[in-house]
Amino acid sequence: MGQSFVLVDDDQDILDILKFQMELDGHSVRAFSSSPQALAAIASNPPDCVVTDLMMPDIDGVELTRMLRANPKLQDLKIVVLSGKIYETDKNRALEAGADGFLIKSRQDPAEMLSYILDLLAEKLLLKFWGCRGTIPVPGPGTLKYGGNTSCVSLTFPNDHHYIFDAGTGIKQLSNQFVKSGRKKLTGTIFISHPHWDHINFLPFFQPLYAQGNQFTIAGPSSQQSGIEELVANQMEGLHFPITPREFGSQVLYKNLGEGQFKFGPATVETMLLCHPGNCLGYCVHFAGKKIAYVTDNELFPEESDMFSPAYLKRLTAFIGEADILITDSTYFDEEYPAKLGWGHSRLSAVCKLAASAKVRDFYLFHHDPDQDDAALERKLALAQEMCESLESDVRVKLAEAEEEVVITK
Ligand SMILES: [Zn+2]
Ligand SMILES: [Zn+2]
Repeated sequence: MGQSFVLVDDDQDILDILKFQMELDGHSVRAFSSSPQALAAIASNPPDCVVTDLMMPDIDGVELTRMLRANPKLQDLKIVVLSGKIYETDKNRALEAGADGFLIKSRQDPAEMLSYILDLLAEKLLLKFWGCRGTIPVPGPGTLKYGGNTSCVSLTFPNDHHYIFDAGTGIKQLSNQFVKSGRKKLTGTIFISHPHWDHINFLPFFQPLYAQGNQFTIAGPSSQQSGIEELVANQMEGLHFPITPREFGSQVLYKNLGEGQFKFGPATVETMLLCHPGNCLGYCVHFAGKKIAYVTDNELFPEESDMFSPAYLKRLTAFIGEADILITDSTYFDEEYPAKLGWGHSRLSAVCKLAASAKVRDFYLFHHDPDQDDAALERKLALAQEMCESLESDVRVKLAEAEEEVVITK
């Protein structure tokens, strides 16, 4: 379906190039070389999206964004600021004023500019699984299909902010992708669920942390003894690793998290302490009406166990309630579990019940036991599908394949 655009730029060339490209693609376009004229036209007949130049004589792009954002009637309007220059400060000013995106002008590739703008309008999120294994990495012929790396999942927002959940061995593949793309000025948040090895020990191999110009926040639960900064630094002190966090060339901020609601980049993140040794946080991301839950490592005790807490189960069910995507600890087959009771991980039937009663849409089995090969995971999937059907749930049970990308749209 075509979108409606208002273009504002004092550079007639860019106006013509973008207008041509947009109309070719079936969109409707009104183009203005004067920002006051555009402002009046937007207010009287709001488009889906305003694409405005940054530097203009009367009202510049940042000021125009601010004025549009002050109008309550234009709440649903998307705003993209265009610039001829790659200055981080300009991008930050535009985003702070309320722009949804910031784009460098390219006379050579208007199609690429339009595809960025359309992704923003679709509020498209890209979820990618880099490691789904628990405890230790398990490379080898038996794990080729679903991958042998430990926990790491990335979520990319339309304005190019990156969320990364956990830094198991999977983060090395994500690092390779960033390096290969040659991308600079990356911004993102790395959420650590808890400081067990399979969730933190490949953080020092995430190369973008060493590159100048990138900005990352590392967020996670603090323990009684140390905050998240110490938890990261402790595994990088001389005895265990030759490089210290002082050598991170990018700007790195640390944020200790407890339970609550936090704003990181473009989305809101809600946290809840999980049932696992030490402090372990589950995360729910809320963005553009969508909810993505990353909840590992977590033990759902059987009802007959002394450790079973109905209050905890109720809270967790509400926490992940009606999530579009639930990625959760499904470590054991039911028959494996009695020998592992109290290890901090869940059995299949308990997570199926949880996903069904929380009415989630897509439920990804995650954090697999290292002794389960691809064939075992497929048995686990089939069993989980049967269990959910017998619970009369229409939740879709899934297994992420190695480096699988999932596009989440409205
Ligand atoms: Zn783990
Ligand atoms: Zn753990």
